[in-house]
Amino acid sequence: MPTVDVDRSDPDYRSWLKEAVRKVQADANRTADTHVLRFPLPEEWGIDLYLKDESTHPTGSLKHRLARSLFLYGLCNGWIRPGKPVIESSSGSTAVSEAYFASLIGVPFIAVMPATTSREKTRLIEFHGGTCHLVDDPRTVYAVSAELAAESGGHYMDQFTYAERATDWRGNNNIAESIYQQLRLERYPEPAWIVATAGTGGTSATIARYVHYMQYDTRICVPDPENSCFFDGWRTGDAETDCATASRIEGIGRPRMEPSFVPGAIDRMMKVPDAASVAAVRALERAIGRKAGGSTGTGLWSALKIVAEMVAAGRTGSVVTLLCDPGDRYLDKYYSDSWLEEQGLDIAPYAATIEDFLETGSWPV
Ligand SMILES: *Cc1c(COP(=O)(O)O)cnc(C)c1O
Repeated sequence: MPTVDVDRSDPDYRSWLKEAVRKVQADANRTADTHVLRFPLPEEWGIDLYLKDESTHPTGSLKHRLARSLFLYGLCNGWIRPGKPVIESSSGSTAVSEAYFASLIGVPFIAVMPATTSREKTRLIEFHGGTCHLVDDPRTVYAVSAELAAESGGHYMDQFTYAERATDWRGNNNIAESIYQQLRLERYPEPAWIVATAGTGGTSATIARYVHYMQYDTRICVPDPENSCFFDGWRTGDAETDCATASRIEGIGRPRMEPSFVPGAIDRMMKVPDAASVAAVRALERAIGRKAGGSTGTGLWSALKIVAEMVAAGRTGSVVTLLCDPGDRYLDKYYSDSWLEEQGLDIAPYAATIEDFLETGSWPV
């Protein structure tokens, strides 16, 4: 039988691909790792609480890591092509970070988003050279993204499907490996708990898998905001669980069980009231002088509750949570009392809980 040999390799494409991958890798190489900050707790508790500060990435959130992974995955799979657009359904930080990487490698970027998206977010996407494609019905963002990709010969990134697999969960300086490296000289270098909130679910999947792979004893807790199906879906094991109302905590909480959310890897989940998330993020500013987004508050509330349980059990050790993005994006939301009133959120009882806890070590039951 004669040899059948089809060679589709195009030297121009291969040199473009090499150059694009180099640019994305160079971005990682140029930028330093993110800091781990301490949240001050009374010395006599023998417990250390840390925040991995993801707000210091070039595009200001933990989505910088995701966007980098998705671009490398798409490039190395041959899905992202020269001159063809990258498309994403995201109204938030993912689109901002992806617009940055698209511009870095010189391909167009289109974010498909609900028409109600805040002007601040569309401004940031456009600042990084992206285009915003607005749709009236928010439920159509996935289908419209896929359509746009098909029409243009572009690539639909699909963060909610690919977040968990585009990231190297075994290491390669992912967020989990980085946390363990940075805690190496601490008195409790292996955290008792790592707390991570979920939007795509990718961050919690990466951390949990890494912990199991490395055979650590660390437990993983995922706190969920009010308007999200993740908590119920995790508890019941029902993959069809949904939630009709949109989350008020930007970046986390989803209406459907996203494919990137890996429930089996997670030890514990907590439902956190939105008012508690806001109270916690404001307490963060009093404690360390930094503003952060609402999801950081959700994680911090949950981490403080876990610290309280450790105090009550007479247990020492460390707990890690994430500072996901900076608060200056949300001055007219989580830092605005009129927004709280509009939303019917009363943070006073939760603020009192945190204040009392930091003074006395006890958490109301
Ligand atoms: C995306 C996001 C998260 C959650 O991260 P995932 O890896 O998508 O689960 C938390 N906070 C903010 C601000 C985010 O944008």
